[in-house]
Amino acid sequence: MDPPDFSHADVGRAGRYHRPLYLAFGIGIALSCVVYSLLAWSWIGDRLWHPVAGLGWAGSAAAWAAVVVAAAELVRLPLAVWRGFLRERRFGFSTQSPAGWAVDRAKAFAIGLVLTVGAWTAAVALGRALPGWWAAPAAAALALAALVLSFLGPVVLEPLFNRFRPLGDARLAGELRELARGAGVPVRDVLVADASRRTTKVNAYVSGLGATRRVVLFDTLVASAGEREVKLIVAHELGHRRARDAAKATALAMVGGVVAVLVLWAALGTPSPRDLPVALLLFLGLELVGLPIVAAISRRMERAADRCSLELTHDLEAFERAHVELARKNLSELEPPRLAYLLMFTHPTPPERLALARAWAASS
Ligand SMILES: [Zn+2]
Repeated sequence: MDPPDFSHADVGRAGRYHRPLYLAFGIGIALSCVVYSLLAWSWIGDRLWHPVAGLGWAGSAAAWAAVVVAAAELVRLPLAVWRGFLRERRFGFSTQSPAGWAVDRAKAFAIGLVLTVGAWTAAVALGRALPGWWAAPAAAALALAALVLSFLGPVVLEPLFNRFRPLGDARLAGELRELARGAGVPVRDVLVADASRRTTKVNAYVSGLGATRRVVLFDTLVASAGEREVKLIVAHELGHRRARDAAKATALAMVGGVVAVLVLWAALGTPSPRDLPVALLLFLGLELVGLPIVAAISRRMERAADRCSLELTHDLEAFERAHVELARKNLSELEPPRLAYLLMFTHPTPPERLALARAWAASS
């Protein structure tokens, strides 16, 4: 019998890395609930609301949104530092300085602030202009925003965090483009992101729609994986492209946006500026309900992309090596608790992926 892909020690190490992260996930949600509840219904909320109440509806909607987003960030910051920085460093993943991490966090905060202030002010404006049926244009606008962000994300948001360059190895790049043509989904760009300035973890992804569509490889992956493994992983990403998974994810986000607006409309009627914390509590609840659904859909997409990677490369050996290496390098969870798996796992576990790949290879 072949030795198992992962030793007992591998399973244990991955567990020690992940278990506290599940706890952090739960604590993060609990903290958000507490902050939004306090801002919605306590004297603390009243005190903070008081100075912005007199700014006129647009001014108070915008300023209150800024206060709420800043308060939530402040309360969750210690957890984020522990989770995103200290812990990553302890396990040897982080290659960032504290300042570098802080700059990333500040950028993400700024993006969240701008989007929340803009969206909330627009919602209140629509509520005033069209009381009773503001939800219809708001839902349409939010769906449109999700669509636009999918197009613009790779060109506007991703460059705020990473630099991208075309794959340097011209021969390999040519072979990858050939692989893409063979798969029926020619790609214009196979890009390499400078992930190594943040982490030692390895990864790849596809993003964008239409002309902004691209396959992105982490430089950490290009540096550490063999050519056959890189091809296998690109073939997996091509599987996502062929199945139009990015477009499906965008459609799902659009539906999510519409549902969120309808729930808000049903719960609040016409929103007034002060209502934002209640709205965010509702969204948090919706997100929790949506998590297992989105995770299940994503796992299904991943399984299909895995199958595609084998169909395109006929290289089970590269699949096995790539996925074992990926799991080891990233300390991927090998035996997650059931609830964590259902809520948070957008990918099947490495042992599941290896078992499915071997079953496909045996049956084809
Ligand atoms: Zn994938």
